[in-house]
Amino acid sequence: MTPNRRTLLHAGVSVTATLASATFAGQSPGPSDPRLPLKDDAESRAAAAQDFGHIIQRQPRAVCKPGSSAEVADVLRWAKQQGLKVAARGQGHATYGRAMAEDGIVLDLGALTAIHRIEPDRVVVDAGATWHAVLDATLAKGLVPLVLTNYLGLSVGGTLAVGGIGGSSSRHGLQTDQVLELDVVTGESVELTCSPTANADLFDAVRAGLAQCATITRATLRLMRAPERVRRYLLSYPDLASLTADQRRALDEARFDQLQGAVVPNGAGGWRYQLEAGVFYDGSMPPNDKALLAGLADKRETVSDLAFGEDANAFAKLEKLLRSNGQWFNPHPWLLTYLRGSNALEIASEVIAGLDGDDLGPLGRITYYPMFTDACRTPLLRLPDERVVFPFNLIRIPASADKANAERQLARNRILYDRIRAAGGMLYPVSALAMSSQDWMDHFGPRWPLLREARRRHDPGGILTPGYDLF
Ligand SMILES: Cc1cc2nc3c(=O)[nH]c(=O)nc-3n(C[C@H](O)[C@H](O)[C@H](O)COP(=O)(O)OP(=O)(O)OC[C@H]3O[C@@H](n4cnc5c(N)ncnc54)[C@H](O)[C@@H]3O)c2cc1C
Repeated sequence: MTPNRRTLLHAGVSVTATLASATFAGQSPGPSDPRLPLKDDAESRAAAAQDFGHIIQRQPRAVCKPGSSAEVADVLRWAKQQGLKVAARGQGHATYGRAMAEDGIVLDLGALTAIHRIEPDRVVVDAGATWHAVLDATLAKGLVPLVLTNYLGLSVGGTLAVGGIGGSSSRHGLQTDQVLELDVVTGESVELTCSPTANADLFDAVRAGLAQCATITRATLRLMRAPERVRRYLLSYPDLASLTADQRRALDEARFDQLQGAVVPNGAGGWRYQLEAGVFYDGSMPPNDKALLAGLADKRETVSDLAFGEDANAFAKLEKLLRSNGQWFNPHPWLLTYLRGSNALEIASEVIAGLDGDDLGPLGRITYYPMFTDACRTPLLRLPDERVVFPFNLIRIPASADKANAERQLARNRILYDRIRAAGGMLYPVSALAMSSQDWMDHFGPRWPLLREARRRHDPGGILTPGYDLF
């Protein structure tokens, strides 16, 4: 927005320039119309009423694609005056309507995607940028973010609002642990910079704070030197117990730079148990496979060797397949949790015994691996209180769009979540799961006052991100 338009807006004076897209259907422009890039056409509203979950639909009154932090502030100010709720939307990969606002405004951050600056230890990016774009830009300078999600098509703001876990989280925590500074616009339309030393309470409330206090417009992320290549190992096991034993051994002995794993349908009604690990290296001398795998029980390992960028983008192949066979657009009632290290094998075995291949779909999987929590310091990221926890995620990719099946899975998610909670596990709030305010209070536990106070202070009108039903 030009300074003139901003000045006029702030003075409460209507701008006379015609902005057809700024008016709502059936309403003529009035003196309080915002003259912002709002779109209320059916196509824009329908797109913002969907997400990757394809379970919840909530039609916003309009979609706004701000081009600056100041414009975000203008929209929030105006929405508050109108009594409208506002939800930021990055790439729309939430699974349960968390970036939606029924009859409100969806702030599409797709125009805030600039990579501003790359320094040897940091990158400054707009929050709408994807991790893919961040990685491309930093790799070109021989640098990479410390933690990348397995899928790079997520926005920086979208993962910082929830956590952002990846193969390096055991060493470096979640993406929210590697943020140096954030520019945000609060629910009161105030533009602020926050960091561990400036507005620290807000910094803590925004990271993994489910977008309840502010919209992130810009982030400064820590970088490290990029490894040249990744040697990747896929080891198979006959059962969950032997997989878990080797995962724990590999973790304790710090054998790999990345350690993950999964339980996947074997196509014959059973499961395959896989350890997935990567070792970074430079130059032409790959790591010694024999030494790295010595003593691990697996006998049928697969080894591959890729440039760092190719390896980080490996999920793109599956995305392409799912888009082409239509399964990307089916309902995705995912359940993502963290189990305590001390009972992960027991609880995961119990849950898996109650599932069959249909619960996940032929291309679905259960993510299951141990990680250290030492580097996880984001206050609102809730993890079981143990040094080792297991991400345990039901990545359901149904082969059909059957709504009744999705409803059944959602009901199952609730039962499984209650079981996991009772066993000391925690929710990763990107799950497709209805949560009441009381559920959220229980989830945040001792951290609830931090979020509640920050909300009271920075979004007292309660306009931000209604999709979680948090307050
Ligand atoms: C295929 C796939 C793979 C995934 N892999 C991983 C993974 O490896 N690791 C992992 O941790 N997660 C993973 N996720 C989950 C993902 O991190 C979350 O769903 C994330 O919120 C999606 O980011 P998005 O940009 O699509 O956000 P959206 O769906 O657009 O938004 C999600 C939430 O973030 C809020 N939000 C978005 N932008 C901002 C902003 N700028 N400021 C404040 N709040 C904002 C929204 O209001 C909403 O509440 C995956 C999801 C999918 C679909």
